Amino acid sequence: MQHVALEDLVSGFTTELLDEDKCRRWVLERLFPEGVACPMCGHPLPEKRMERFYSGRVNFCPECKRKYRTLRGTPLRGTHFTYADIVMIALLTSFGCHVNDIGRIVNHLGPAVKGLQRRLHALSEKPPRNKGVTQNNF
Ligand SMILES: [Zn+2]
Repeated sequence: MQHVALEDLVSGFTTELLDEDKCRRWVLERLFPEGVACPMCGHPLPEKRMERFYSGRVNFCPECKRKYRTLRGTPLRGTHFTYADIVMIALLTSFGCHVNDIGRIVNHLGPAVKGLQRRLHALSEKPPRNKGVTQNNF
């Protein structure tokens, strides 16, 4: 085996190496630890619709008949980061990494990373409007 310096080993790392489906599920399970409810009427999402929810597709409420995106009513709504980026930013932020270092890894500029960090911090300040949420683990 050839000797490889640690810097060379990690230099090509990108969040594209992470499994987006697993990262989405990981984030959503932490955002909705006590189940998912319609952000408009509060009706619990039926168990048979949870896989669709975890797939990130548009959801349909059988009670009020309205559609909603998975992150609606949460501080992460409308973000352009991938779920892999969100996981990496949350992880590296919790390790105390500098915003510019995080930006290099997720391939976004520091101000964009700071914006997501504010959203992540907002998760711990107040629960999202979704009535199924009472806490988060970020
Ligand atoms: Zn509803």
